[in-house]
Amino acid sequence: MSDSITFADLGLSAQTISAIGAKGFEKPTKIQSACIPLLLKDQVDVIGQAQTGTGKTAAFGLPILEIVDPSLAKVQALILAPTRELAVQNSEEINSLKGERALEIASVYGGASMELQLRKLRRGVHVVVGTPGRVLDHLRRGSLVLDNLKFMVLDEADEMLDMGFIEDIEEVLKQTPEKKRMLCFSATMPPAIQALAEQYMQQPEIVKIQEETMTSTLTDQVYVEIRESDKLEALTRLIDMEERFYGIVFCRTKVQCDEVGQKLAQRGYDAQALHGDLSQNQRESILNRMREKRLSIIVATDVAARGIDISDLTHVINYSLPEAPEAYIHRVGRTGRAGKRGMAITFVTPREYKRFTFIKRIAKSDIERITIPEAGQIIKAKRERIITKLLQYIEGAQVNAQFPKMADRLLHDREAKEVLAAVLEYVYKDELDFDKYREIVPSRERTDRDDNGMTRLFIARGRRDGLDKRLLVDYLIERVGAQDRDIQNVSVQDEFSFVTAPAKIADQIMETFNAIAPKDKPIITRAKPDNPNGKNLTRARRDGRRDRYEERRDRPYKKSGGRSGSSRRRYSSY
Ligand code: ADP
Ligand code: MG
Repeated sequence: MSDSITFADLGLSAQTISAIGAKGFEKPTKIQSACIPLLLKDQVDVIGQAQTGTGKTAAFGLPILEIVDPSLAKVQALILAPTRELAVQNSEEINSLKGERALEIASVYGGASMELQLRKLRRGVHVVVGTPGRVLDHLRRGSLVLDNLKFMVLDEADEMLDMGFIEDIEEVLKQTPEKKRMLCFSATMPPAIQALAEQYMQQPEIVKIQEETMTSTLTDQVYVEIRESDKLEALTRLIDMEERFYGIVFCRTKVQCDEVGQKLAQRGYDAQALHGDLSQNQRESILNRMREKRLSIIVATDVAARGIDISDLTHVINYSLPEAPEAYIHRVGRTGRAGKRGMAITFVTPREYKRFTFIKRIAKSDIERITIPEAGQIIKAKRERIITKLLQYIEGAQVNAQFPKMADRLLHDREAKEVLAAVLEYVYKDELDFDKYREIVPSRERTDRDDNGMTRLFIARGRRDGLDKRLLVDYLIERVGAQDRDIQNVSVQDEFSFVTAPAKIADQIMETFNAIAPKDKPIITRAKPDNPNGKNLTRARRDGRRDRYEERRDRPYKKSGGRSGSSRRRYSSY
């Protein structure tokens, strides 16, 4: 069965196997098991379809690394990805898998310094990962030459087509040699991709992996609703609840990482912040301490956490909600590896609830709600652990002879219980201190104003001005560099239109468009809240939701309703 396949079975070289080992991958994912041998052996084109987070990058990246010739300083593989973020992720992933090979991997994307990219390309690179627009740009300048191309990869092809990159892609394809292998990876396989494949690929082999869960089934995924100001307290309670907590706490910014790392350290946890401002040495030293279990908590940003390879983490905490579903999947994928159970806990503030719902949907994950344990529960759990530990100790201990003598003296004219209680208090006083925990205010309100961090915009242009939905969306995307999915609920009327966009993007849209309008006549404004077009949640639905919430919120640290599942087991013993 595919479960027992190892990387070595796939025909990869010892060198690559060791790089994979260093990265912490234990065994190949399904798409990797299926694609790697095909790409290593046969001269075929491949279409690979598997969900996000199933390791597609390594599926094509590893064979490319094997086949590309380091002694030929020419571009031998070109990988197109839809966004700058994905281009960077791909190039980092491939870079981290190349091991000792003298291969140069460049990423080229818009919005970054052309000068730097040109310099890197001029020095000679073997693999280029880029967004279609910027790649074309380099092709036109002659800074990118594809005469020696062996692999042309379209990564996240569905998304690239959705984003309207088809012409750019075709333009790039025209400049590739006839004799090359073309690979196309995608989470879905819409007709447009089939058409593209028919036109540009040679009898492609189709590898389709169905229904692989995106995050490990060994990872229990839960969330808690929490106010920003209670997050630290919640975090310490979650840590204390565990016998052994060995995890990564994800924060949005470096400043937040530092703050959370410091506060944890002040409270006596062995935690360290890890972010881009640290030197390579500092970073290495933190990671080594973590690997050696001398450190149990790393507080990191997404960027800093990339390439951290620690395979037996017990916990991932999303202290800040990740920006995008992909980031969620990447974060959560750091636990539940190597056959060990793990738990991913996401903190969600009331304002973030809608975005969280979106993440949940895209990540196709069953994420159930739990409540933060009460101080009493934690103390009880700790008490039980102390007793178990002491009983075990009594069983196995080779006690130093001076202790029984001391015991005799202590028990000489005192009750055993009195003596033992004093000893326990002396040893465990701090650990069992209720006052260590402060109150957590239930996060009751999910903000109505801004349910989801989305803003409804009113646009003083409509059909009469020649607008239609597609045009409006394209225009907004182009002008503010948004993505298609950012612009939602588009409604175009004769005289005006509405769109909904994430608050940050909405601000950009207003800024961009109003800059060209007279001050007193802005083209785009926030929709008035009482406008029926301005909201998509009715009062009744919101209230209904709140009632359900009230009813649940006092239940201590248990799943609030829903199915019983494997993930429930973990907490039921408390
Ligand atoms: P996709 O492109 O399918 O969305 P990625 O290639 O970005 O997925 O991989 C998602 C995450 O899984 C990355 O963090 C990657 O390092 C990790 N990963 C990939 N292959 C494996 C593996 N065989 N074992 C463990 N983790 C893996
Ligand atoms: Mg990918």
